[in-house]
Amino acid sequence: RAKDEGGSEHCQYEPTLHVHAEERRKLEASLRHALERDEMSLNFQPVVDANDETVVSFEALVRWNSEEHGFVGPDKFIPLAEDTRLIIPIGTWVMEQACIEACNWPSHVRVAVNVSGEQLIEPDFASTVIGALSKSGLEANRLEIEVTESIFLRDANVARAALEQVIALGCTVALDDFGTGYSSLGYLRKLSFSTIKVDRSFVQGAVQGSAESLAIINAVVAMAESLEMSTTAEGVENAEEAEFIRKLGCKKIQGYYFGRPMPAHDARQIFVREGLRRA
Ligand code: C2E
Ligand code: MG
Ligand code: MG
Ligand code: MG
Repeated sequence: RAKDEGGSEHCQYEPTLHVHAEERRKLEASLRHALERDEMSLNFQPVVDANDETVVSFEALVRWNSEEHGFVGPDKFIPLAEDTRLIIPIGTWVMEQACIEACNWPSHVRVAVNVSGEQLIEPDFASTVIGALSKSGLEANRLEIEVTESIFLRDANVARAALEQVIALGCTVALDDFGTGYSSLGYLRKLSFSTIKVDRSFVQGAVQGSAESLAIINAVVAMAESLEMSTTAEGVENAEEAEFIRKLGCKKIQGYYFGRPMPAHDARQIFVREGLRRA
């Protein structure tokens, strides 16, 4: 294992590297049993219409409460799951649970599920989606798949073909964290995305007076409009930011201001408050 991490001679002189690998090995061993031990759960974060502030969808966000490691954030275990292929069973579980929960919501409310590139290039990705839809009874048009631009870096054609299959089923695809990493406008032509999600860093930047961030949001909104795509601003944390973003023309807003990621039970209470019942 140490050899994989950069050569055994390295390890002798840099014990921290070894500790790091050991830590990772332990995390991986625990992650391998997380599903069967029932340690995974989903939180749901509301996305609201920028104009009337009603909930239009929830994004499903996976949580891991490990017996050995306590709460581990997705930013830490998702990359590990991707490296070890554990993202395949975990992703399938997330997809199913998200679809099952969405059946408890009013029928105009959709659910968004994050999908990694590793999942998309599995030959049976579309079958996984079909399975989750039929098992839950959720209509395909209520499921949105969220992907990042990174899926186009490797096996781009395979990933695109997989997404086209689920679009054919009636699902929609959103481009997540837009503007971070490997952004290229060319990616927007590769698929009919329904929504572009503007990364939180631009929202925060624009509110704090960054001319670059503001220019990028304006450009994304204009481009999305001409391509008949919707826009969601991520990471809106207060009323001032919400108003600012609404004026820029973003169609939907997601962020702590309108609701943090919350357990399924709490998400359902939002509809009780909005006076909506399951349709
Ligand atoms: P993401 O898909 O961009 O999800 C949004 C992240 O921003 C979430 O972090 C959410 O809690 C956080 N967030 C939302 N509103 C605000 C805000 O107003 N302020 C701040 N500071 N943060 C906000 P989370 O839940 O830690 O997830 C991190 C990332 O992990 C996600 O980013 C997504 O890329 C990945 N992830 C989460 N669940 C899954 C999953 O089921 N499958 C896959 N493949 N990836 C997942
Ligand atoms: Mg997302
Ligand atoms: Mg995002
Ligand atoms: Mg993100």
